[in-house]
Amino acid sequence: MCADKNHEKPSILKSILGNKCARCRRGSIYTTKNPYNLKDCMKMPEHCPVCGQKVEVEVGFYYGTGYVSYALSIAVCVASFIAWWVFFGFSLYDNRIYYWIATNAVLLLGMQPLIMRWARTIWMAFFVYYDEDWALARKAA
Ligand SMILES: [Zn+2]
Repeated sequence: MCADKNHEKPSILKSILGNKCARCRRGSIYTTKNPYNLKDCMKMPEHCPVCGQKVEVEVGFYYGTGYVSYALSIAVCVASFIAWWVFFGFSLYDNRIYYWIATNAVLLLGMQPLIMRWARTIWMAFFVYYDEDWALARKAA
């Protein structure tokens, strides 16, 4: 009986890209939707607004996001390297590699708020699993 949209399981990729709670994949785990609102972009509510899951699962829960953030940054570097290679190429006889380094640095700086938010969302998804009965658990509580 999946006629109701509330009973469909949202995809994990979509919920991570949209910074949704790992348990219900519906509620936002950030108070602001705009990652470039730098003053508030990392502010999180205490509980998921949809299912009530605690967003900071335990004290210092998000310290480990540095590893995820690092991996995401490396992925961005590899992607930009490949894109640069395909569109501009690399050569030993000119400065194209330095242009790539500069472009990549600007790209990483520009993407930092997005990467930091995704790192926390992915970190939460490592430890909190999707619960298809989140609505029932919410009613019982
Ligand atoms: Zn939730």
